[in-house]
Amino acid sequence: MHSRFRLPGPTPLPPAVMEAMQKPMIPHRGADMKALYRSILDRTKAVHGTSGDIFIWPASGSAGWEAAAVNLFSPGETVICAIGGDFGERFHRVGKALGLVVERLDVEWGQAVTPEALREKLASTPDVKGVFLVHNETSTGVTHPIEQLASVAREFDVLVIVDAVSSAAGIQIEMDLWGIDYVMSGSQKAWMCPPGIMIAAVGERCWPAYERSTYKRFFWNFGAMREAAAEGATPTTPPLTTLYAFDAALDMLLSEGLEQVYARHAALGAQMRAGAEQLGLSLFADPAYASNTVTAITVPGGKAKALQKRLKDEHGIDVANGQAHTADHLIRVGHMGWCDAEDIEIVLDALAEIVPTL
Ligand SMILES: *Cc1c(COP(=O)(O)O)cnc(C)c1O
Repeated sequence: MHSRFRLPGPTPLPPAVMEAMQKPMIPHRGADMKALYRSILDRTKAVHGTSGDIFIWPASGSAGWEAAAVNLFSPGETVICAIGGDFGERFHRVGKALGLVVERLDVEWGQAVTPEALREKLASTPDVKGVFLVHNETSTGVTHPIEQLASVAREFDVLVIVDAVSSAAGIQIEMDLWGIDYVMSGSQKAWMCPPGIMIAAVGERCWPAYERSTYKRFFWNFGAMREAAAEGATPTTPPLTTLYAFDAALDMLLSEGLEQVYARHAALGAQMRAGAEQLGLSLFADPAYASNTVTAITVPGGKAKALQKRLKDEHGIDVANGQAHTADHLIRVGHMGWCDAEDIEIVLDALAEIVPTL
């Protein structure tokens, strides 16, 4: 595909997605729109492995945290937030800002949250209503063992709220099978679309929680979204152009086949990690939980930004540096969405040239 745009979001746009965005506006309450939206919702359910509801809002991914909090909990309720990186931190911050009591379950950056640690935290924290989990921690390149974590949470009968912003459509997530109640993601990551829509998948157990919730809300209202979706509509004007893009991306994903999509990402992750290690670089994530959508590479001597700049200046390649305290110590290479083996080769060849003289 020969893209040199290797951020872990936004990600490169396939030609079919770009083309779809050239389509003209249609009446947003008309029959064509209803058909398009219904078809998008059905296919998006399949990608999440759920028979629950899908809601799509014009927003960036972060809105998914707030939507979960104000629909499924009430002010002052206790939730546990597993934190092993910058996005776990943000999840925690959102919960606190909205008045939840957010108990931290911290793991060292680069490590995964273990089922044992979650069980212990749940057992020792009174009156927990939900757990906030990040499936793929984009700041560290770790994929947390979400299936096992959800299964522990089920033992305690608490809601399982998952940030899958950098995993949905790149790493398998089986919401119903694994007992996950809520999954949120953003269009600009493995969905290979431009930024602009937040995708929320809402399972059956969410609805009693929604009925109990005392938060005030207007825009982020599951009930209003559900009512409108039953009519193939959204409560407010839908983000038409981004939906055209999303429709085209869903076609691509389902015609490649989800199994193949996940296998391709696994192969890309393995290729990136092996290539980096061959160059003598070390990987930041625990190898047992290494992400297939983003690889964090340790750059010795605090030279991450220097390496990032040389990749751009000398090879036209965009990668991300680290987040928060890892800013000078990591580069992060995105390989999610529209990406193939040649794209990874381009990055590895450039690293091979630069690293010896960094
Ligand atoms: C990118 C990302 C977000 C935030 O998404 P925005 O679209 O920037 O709001 C949240 N969680 C994870 C894991 C991410 O990778």
